[in-house]
Amino acid sequence: MAGLTNTPWIERVEAVWAHAQELHPDLPDARIAVGSLHRSPRRWGHWLPGAHELYVAAALEAEPAEHVVGVILHEAAHALGEARGITTTSRQGRYHSNRFAGLAAEVGLCPSDGRPDGLGWDRLSPPALVAWTDVIEQLEEARLA
Ligand SMILES: [Zn+2]
Repeated sequence: MAGLTNTPWIERVEAVWAHAQELHPDLPDARIAVGSLHRSPRRWGHWLPGAHELYVAAALEAEPAEHVVGVILHEAAHALGEARGITTTSRQGRYHSNRFAGLAAEVGLCPSDGRPDGLGWDRLSPPALVAWTDVIEQLEEARLA
Protein backbone atom coordinates (compact mmCIF):
# COMPACT_ATOMS: atom_id res chain seq x y z
CA MET A 1 0.00 0.00 0.00
CA ALA A 2 2.96 2.31 -0.46
CA GLY A 3 2.27 5.48 -2.38
CA LEU A 4 -0.83 6.59 -0.54
CA THR A 5 0.93 9.62 0.88
CA ASN A 6 0.41 12.86 -1.02
CA THR A 7 -1.85 11.31 -3.60
CA PRO A 8 -5.10 13.08 -4.42
CA TRP A 9 -8.10 12.26 -2.30
CA ILE A 10 -9.79 10.17 -4.96
CA GLU A 11 -6.75 7.89 -5.25
CA ARG A 12 -6.80 7.33 -1.52
CA VAL A 13 -10.44 6.30 -1.71
CA GLU A 14 -9.57 3.96 -4.58
CA ALA A 15 -6.82 2.42 -2.47
CA VAL A 16 -9.26 1.79 0.38
CA TRP A 17 -11.71 0.18 -2.04
CA ALA A 18 -8.93 -1.98 -3.52
CA HIS A 19 -7.96 -3.19 -0.06
CA ALA A 20 -11.61 -4.00 0.68
CA GLN A 21 -11.66 -6.05 -2.54
CA GLU A 22 -8.64 -8.00 -1.36
CA LEU A 23 -10.50 -8.86 1.84
CA HIS A 24 -13.84 -9.45 0.07
CA PRO A 25 -13.17 -10.86 -3.41
CA ASP A 26 -16.77 -10.57 -4.60
CA LEU A 27 -16.83 -6.85 -3.95
CA PRO A 28 -17.38 -5.31 -7.40
CA ASP A 29 -15.17 -2.66 -8.99
CA ALA A 30 -16.33 0.87 -8.34
CA ARG A 31 -15.98 4.15 -10.13
CA ILE A 32 -15.16 6.72 -7.48
CA ALA A 33 -16.77 10.15 -7.62
CA VAL A 34 -16.23 12.96 -5.17
CA GLY A 35 -19.14 15.28 -4.65
CA SER A 36 -21.01 17.36 -2.16
CA LEU A 37 -23.94 14.96 -1.74
CA HIS A 38 -26.51 17.76 -1.70
CA ARG A 39 -29.43 15.41 -1.51
CA SER A 40 -28.60 14.30 1.96
CA PRO A 41 -26.13 16.48 3.84
CA ARG A 42 -25.73 14.00 6.68
CA ARG A 43 -24.38 11.41 4.34
CA TRP A 44 -20.67 10.92 3.80
CA GLY A 45 -20.98 8.39 1.04
CA HIS A 46 -23.40 6.73 -1.33
CA TRP A 47 -23.33 3.59 -3.45
CA LEU A 48 -25.17 3.95 -6.74
CA PRO A 49 -26.62 0.55 -7.57
CA GLY A 50 -26.41 -0.51 -11.18
CA ALA A 51 -23.88 2.16 -12.06
CA HIS A 52 -21.29 0.74 -9.65
CA GLU A 53 -20.40 4.24 -8.60
CA LEU A 54 -19.20 5.19 -5.15
CA TYR A 55 -19.86 8.77 -4.20
CA VAL A 56 -17.86 10.18 -1.33
CA ALA A 57 -18.25 13.60 0.17
CA ALA A 58 -15.32 15.91 -0.43
CA ALA A 59 -15.53 16.90 3.23
CA LEU A 60 -14.76 13.32 4.25
CA GLU A 61 -11.12 13.94 3.35
CA ALA A 62 -10.71 16.02 6.50
CA GLU A 63 -12.18 13.34 8.75
CA PRO A 64 -10.02 10.94 10.80
CA ALA A 65 -8.85 8.01 8.67
CA GLU A 66 -10.77 5.52 10.76
CA HIS A 67 -14.00 7.29 9.87
CA VAL A 68 -13.04 7.44 6.20
CA VAL A 69 -12.56 3.67 6.12
CA GLY A 70 -15.80 3.16 8.04
CA VAL A 71 -17.79 5.22 5.56
CA ILE A 72 -16.27 3.45 2.56
CA LEU A 73 -16.86 0.02 4.11
CA HIS A 74 -20.48 0.99 4.76
CA GLU A 75 -20.92 1.63 1.04
CA ALA A 76 -18.97 -1.56 0.30
CA ALA A 77 -21.61 -3.46 2.28
CA HIS A 78 -24.27 -2.02 -0.05
CA ALA A 79 -22.13 -2.98 -3.06
CA LEU A 80 -21.64 -6.53 -1.75
CA GLY A 81 -25.39 -6.80 -1.28
CA GLU A 82 -25.98 -5.75 -4.86
CA ALA A 83 -23.40 -8.26 -6.10
CA ARG A 84 -25.18 -11.03 -4.20
CA GLY A 85 -28.69 -9.98 -5.12
CA ILE A 86 -29.50 -8.86 -1.59
CA THR A 87 -31.67 -5.80 -1.10
CA THR A 88 -29.89 -3.58 1.41
CA THR A 89 -32.38 -0.76 1.70
CA SER A 90 -36.10 -0.38 2.12
CA ARG A 91 -38.63 2.38 1.53
CA GLN A 92 -36.95 3.85 -1.55
CA GLY A 93 -33.54 3.65 0.02
CA ARG A 94 -34.37 5.63 3.13
CA TYR A 95 -33.78 2.74 5.52
CA HIS A 96 -31.50 -0.24 5.71
CA SER A 97 -33.06 -3.63 5.27
CA ASN A 98 -32.66 -6.27 7.95
CA ARG A 99 -30.11 -8.07 5.81
CA PHE A 100 -27.87 -5.01 5.58
CA ALA A 101 -26.69 -5.52 9.15
CA GLY A 102 -25.22 -8.91 8.27
CA LEU A 103 -23.30 -7.48 5.33
CA ALA A 104 -22.07 -4.54 7.39
CA ALA A 105 -20.81 -6.89 10.07
CA GLU A 106 -19.14 -9.04 7.41
CA VAL A 107 -17.08 -6.12 6.09
CA GLY A 108 -16.05 -5.26 9.64
CA LEU A 109 -18.49 -2.67 10.88
CA CYS A 110 -20.39 -2.42 14.10
CA PRO A 111 -23.37 -0.16 14.81
CA SER A 112 -22.58 3.43 15.69
CA ASP A 113 -23.15 4.48 19.27
CA GLY A 114 -26.66 5.55 19.98
CA ARG A 115 -28.06 4.04 16.82
CA PRO A 116 -29.49 0.69 17.87
CA ASP A 117 -31.45 0.61 14.62
CA GLY A 118 -28.14 0.08 12.85
CA LEU A 119 -28.60 3.11 10.65
CA GLY A 120 -25.15 4.33 11.61
CA TRP A 121 -22.95 1.35 10.76
CA ASP A 122 -19.79 3.30 10.12
CA ARG A 123 -17.58 2.23 13.03
CA LEU A 124 -14.93 -0.42 12.58
CA SER A 125 -15.12 -3.48 14.78
CA PRO A 126 -11.99 -4.35 16.83
CA PRO A 127 -10.90 -7.12 14.39
CA ALA A 128 -11.43 -4.78 11.44
CA LEU A 129 -9.29 -2.14 13.11
CA VAL A 130 -6.47 -4.68 13.17
CA ALA A 131 -7.03 -5.73 9.55
CA TRP A 132 -7.06 -2.11 8.42
CA THR A 133 -4.23 -0.75 10.60
CA ASP A 134 -1.74 -0.12 7.78
CA VAL A 135 -4.29 1.56 5.52
CA ILE A 136 -5.59 3.73 8.35
CA GLU A 137 -2.09 4.81 9.33
CA GLN A 138 -1.19 5.77 5.77
CA LEU A 139 -4.46 7.61 5.27
CA GLU A 140 -3.94 9.47 8.50
CA GLU A 141 -0.40 10.47 7.52
CA ALA A 142 -1.70 11.78 4.21
CA ARG A 143 -4.50 13.68 5.92
CA LEU A 144 -2.13 15.42 8.32
CA ALA A 145 0.56 16.10 5.71
ZN1 LIG B 1 -26.31 2.71 3.98
